[in-house]
Amino acid sequence: MSTQKFATNALHAGHDVKQTGGTRAVPIYQTTSYVFNDSEHAANLFSLKELGFIYTRLNNPTNQILQDRLATLERGIGAVVFASGTAAISTGLLTLLKAGDHIVASSSLYGGTYNLLNVTLPRLGITTTFVDASNPENFEKAVQENTKAFFVESLGNPKLDVLDLQGISSYAKKAQVPFIVDNTVATPTLLNPIEHGANIVIHSLTKYIGGQGNSLGGVIIDGGNFDWSNGKFPEFTEPSKGYHGLKYHETLGAASYTFKLILEGLRDFGGALSPTNAFNIIQGLETLSVRIKQHSENALALAKWLEQQEEVAWVNYPGLESSKYKSLSDKYLPNGQSGIVTFGAKGGFEAAKTIADTVKVFSLLANIGDTKSLIIHPASTTHQQLSEEQQASTGVTADLIRLSVGLENIEDLKSDLKEAFSKIAKKVLV
Ligand SMILES: *Cc1c(COP(=O)(O)O)cnc(C)c1O
Repeated sequence: MSTQKFATNALHAGHDVKQTGGTRAVPIYQTTSYVFNDSEHAANLFSLKELGFIYTRLNNPTNQILQDRLATLERGIGAVVFASGTAAISTGLLTLLKAGDHIVASSSLYGGTYNLLNVTLPRLGITTTFVDASNPENFEKAVQENTKAFFVESLGNPKLDVLDLQGISSYAKKAQVPFIVDNTVATPTLLNPIEHGANIVIHSLTKYIGGQGNSLGGVIIDGGNFDWSNGKFPEFTEPSKGYHGLKYHETLGAASYTFKLILEGLRDFGGALSPTNAFNIIQGLETLSVRIKQHSENALALAKWLEQQEEVAWVNYPGLESSKYKSLSDKYLPNGQSGIVTFGAKGGFEAAKTIADTVKVFSLLANIGDTKSLIIHPASTTHQQLSEEQQASTGVTADLIRLSVGLENIEDLKSDLKEAFSKIAKKVLV
């Protein structure tokens, strides 16, 4: 485990320049496959007697550097990268679960994840109970005999609820199931869920870690702190049919899940990250700690300003004194609360749409975590397919606007919103 600090690891971890011909930048190994010395060497690689590169769907030297760096930054023992955050989540769950298994999840989740758990996985016999995550006990109450995982977002998108990770992790421990935390919005700069009892951490690298809106990617970081031999996960202790009788836990111990993600998850589901995208994401990761500090500062300043605008009904940002998550935020996110702010437009659905359609500096699009400021009206876009009741449980209301506050000058962001507010003011403020 590295003894160096975050900013140093973000620039150096995982890259031994002697292994890459002295290149100071991490090179892009744009290759599908790797030449074996001879058939015996190939046989040893396939049987894990020797570790090395076989095929880029399983691993690649550029991807490996990104994996090692992210594992270091999240304080895990290993990491596996994927083509997107969604590929990481679906592959991560399907590598762990089978028909008949059950998940307890926070109801405040990214829309895509909510649909995966609510609609697609049930079709494969994997069901989920969604709970109000503001009370950790709700997780325990929802546990069934077949429960095999708890799943949450450390800072929910778009509800921005800060969860009591230690509280929830204690119930995961009691239920002997892995605690999986999507840490996309908080980023490893602001929060390391493994330090608070998480076993598996997931990120959409598409967001703050890549940070510049140019490449999709995802990662699973393995805390190496879950006992896969506790009787609930026979796929880890019995000989694997899918890998010539390999007993994961006996052979690989704490790293069992990391290897299963590669040997079965990537082999069978194929959601590998392109090495060029790994390179792009590494460029972003190198400046993550500087960017996230500025994103957080801008977001807090804008949230405070929004609270004073007469066109605004309410503002939600975990760093605000008025936030009901302020005390959890002080505990879990003391160094900043990231760049997402939500607020309600007086005048509801139509007023919110008008604001999203009028701004010019903010781009109207479905993403977060870009250097550029972004805006969306979830009720008419990302959450449109959900019923009003489902929208409410994921934290979306008709008047809600989500901002991903970028790195522009804060005064320009205020002017842009002010101009948009002037378009709705006359109708609804009288
Ligand atoms: C965007 C996002 C995802 C999905 O990631 P993609 O890279 O878009 O597939 C998952 N979780 C959260 C919290 C997200 O914001």
